[in-house]
Amino acid sequence: MTRRLSSIVFLIVFLSITSAAQSTTIPSPKSVLGFNPGDDRTVAGWSQITDYFERLDRASDRVLVQTLGQSTLKRPLIVAFISARENILALPKYKEIQQQLADPRKITQNLQHDRLLANGKVVVAISCSIHSTEIVASQMSMQLAYELATAQDADTREILQNTILLLIPSPNPDGIDIVANWYRKTLGTPYEGKEPPELYHYYAGHDDNRDWFMLNLKETQLITRLLWHDWFPQIVYDVHQQGSTGSRFFIPPFYDPPNPNISPLLLRQVGLIGHKVAADLQAAGFKGVLTNALYDTWWHGGFRTAPYFHNSIGILSEAASARLMSPATVTTEQLARSSTRGMRNAVESSTNFPDPWPAGQWRPRDIMAMEMISARSILEIAAKFRVEYLRNFYELGRTNIESKDGPQVYLIPAGQGRDEAVAKLIGSLVDQGVEVYRLDRELHMILAAPILRRTNPVAEKLGSYRRLANLTSSQMQEVPLGSYIIFLAQPQRTNVLALFEPQIYPNRLTGQGEAERPYDVAGWTLPMQMGLEAPVVMAIREPAGERKLTLLKDANEVRADLALAWKKGDESPIKNPVKQPVRVGIYKGWTSNMDEGWTRYIFDTFNVPYTSVRDADMRKGALSSKFDALIFTSQAATQIINGNGVGTMPQEYTGGITEAGVKNLKEFVNNGGMLICFDNACDMAIKEFNLPLKNTLEGVRSSEFYCPGSIVALDVDNKHPIASTLPSTVPAYFINSSAYKAADDANVRVIARYAKENVLLSGWLLGEDKLSGQIALAEVNVGKGRIVLFGFRPQHRGQAWATLPFIWNALSTAANNTSEE
Ligand SMILES: [Zn+2]
Repeated sequence: MTRRLSSIVFLIVFLSITSAAQSTTIPSPKSVLGFNPGDDRTVAGWSQITDYFERLDRASDRVLVQTLGQSTLKRPLIVAFISARENILALPKYKEIQQQLADPRKITQNLQHDRLLANGKVVVAISCSIHSTEIVASQMSMQLAYELATAQDADTREILQNTILLLIPSPNPDGIDIVANWYRKTLGTPYEGKEPPELYHYYAGHDDNRDWFMLNLKETQLITRLLWHDWFPQIVYDVHQQGSTGSRFFIPPFYDPPNPNISPLLLRQVGLIGHKVAADLQAAGFKGVLTNALYDTWWHGGFRTAPYFHNSIGILSEAASARLMSPATVTTEQLARSSTRGMRNAVESSTNFPDPWPAGQWRPRDIMAMEMISARSILEIAAKFRVEYLRNFYELGRTNIESKDGPQVYLIPAGQGRDEAVAKLIGSLVDQGVEVYRLDRELHMILAAPILRRTNPVAEKLGSYRRLANLTSSQMQEVPLGSYIIFLAQPQRTNVLALFEPQIYPNRLTGQGEAERPYDVAGWTLPMQMGLEAPVVMAIREPAGERKLTLLKDANEVRADLALAWKKGDESPIKNPVKQPVRVGIYKGWTSNMDEGWTRYIFDTFNVPYTSVRDADMRKGALSSKFDALIFTSQAATQIINGNGVGTMPQEYTGGITEAGVKNLKEFVNNGGMLICFDNACDMAIKEFNLPLKNTLEGVRSSEFYCPGSIVALDVDNKHPIASTLPSTVPAYFINSSAYKAADDANVRVIARYAKENVLLSGWLLGEDKLSGQIALAEVNVGKGRIVLFGFRPQHRGQAWATLPFIWNALSTAANNTSEE
């Protein structure tokens, strides 16, 4: 015993000597940057951040930095692995353990399972500042890494021993530089601390955190590979900031409604971690921490929501913002006016907000201090309950695999004729780790209602599965080879359900009978958005041994099946769908409009050439000499015409297209040009061109009509050239969008109406009668030209592929406008 004890004592002494010696050579953030991260009016840009992490990697055996790939604008996207030295040396072993825990089918013996639980580490991913104006966490990441690399206390040692941290200083490197450069440029001017006048992600802006199942963006693709192909973190912590005048810090539990496909065990674990963070912040003397408010778990597609569908715990924190890296002053009056779901105001205490903050100065270092405690708190609980986190993660995967109730399979039948959409859908699924097989021999299945049905999804949900269970074998259908099949008995069962089922958002009203706004969208069913049939299958006749299936590895396998060009490198292989050369301009103001960004994303992805048209171009005129078609993406008329107000921004970013731009636009259309407007932008066209159309939803109270991000059915007149390639029913994306009545039918050609009945396909629609039968898409002649009005968002978030053909068809007819009748 004494011998063993002495060797342990020796080991401890030895470790502390070597660690102490090493810590003297580990550079602090201040020694590299010249300031402490979080200091007022300082900011580290992306090259400073990556430089610091490289130095840390070289100096510390607890840190290993990896470059995942390049961002949209070609900056390195990095992750820092932080753990005890011996864990860092054995990362491949721990990755292997994680992959086995993530898929219990890989574990064949009980002993093996016990060994994995005994040896595994809890993998925790922390992601900072995906929203680049919420910039403090990106600065905090350096301090967090430094402290974990150098601390010698027992708590830190336990964290390092039992967890492996995947620290992502930012999943949007381009945005860090956009914000840092803007901040430096405006420092000491009247515009210090204001947000930049451009999207902080080249395509998506703030929507860069709305892409976690579609995987349109390079950043989401790279991080999805890291998280859900390689490392399967048990806990994902996404660090954000909210507005400056409410609570100081939000941490879960979340608000209602929960997504029905999220395991209750996950919701409980989210709550446990959130309360631990809140308690630790309170113990450290911080005021103004809020739980159980505003943010919910309904929607799928965010950094912290995607983990639920990979059997992992997703945590969000939202610190109150300063003015970028400048201090803000918050008054009691502002706090008293701040109200949200679950919080009456930010001055009264309540059980979920027991210690209001008393107003005053709010600094970046306050944000950073709270985020540091929060990150530490999560790592501590992960370390202390290591085995429980590993076991729960494994058990959720096992339950999904063994689940036998209800639907067995989702099917994507061959021969739908929308090959690019099929390739994209399956590519996105495979990239996020969903297992998809190709049928290499036809099979016989009982199919339930196809997803593009016109029946009421609520009734469907309640009755259809039971009804279908009574079907006889004579209703078996032959499913052709070349179809794609997704079994629900797989670790990501809940992800498949959440992506393929129609969402049925609960009817949530306020005490006054108004609609209670969900945190994000209410419906997103992916095959619907992409215009694909994806029926659910209740039974397959052929037993497992008689099936001939191939597991797909990437989108190129699907592209090969469908004889589409392969994707190589960064180039999109999609062939330009516009039938003839056409000169397209897409209006781009200085008010950072995400709809504009996603439109560029779609045009680049489909290789349709375009030019961005700035306010100055609109004011200058001579538009007919440069363009055949001009597109105005969804944006309020006042924003288009007036832009940023004088004095709110440096002068070059103020003013919109102005009256001069409107006059030039009129001349363009009268001369034969095509003007295309999406959603809100139609208001500008209707008013300025005096069109015989009225938005019937304008000014309607949410107690009468409400539809916040849902999929609705369109009845399409496909005799019209703009709809010629589309089926007669098309799902469209409606997000507080528009519907029109024509006052004078003579000049208005209706291309699509919202369906006469059962218009809701997925999401939430209050007041169906206000929408049914109204005009959704129309074309109006003006002079020698035409105006095409989309009431909905035909390219919403780069996801609504079902309605993209309307855009391509419109452009195909734009070049020879005068020959149209
Ligand atoms: Zn955010």
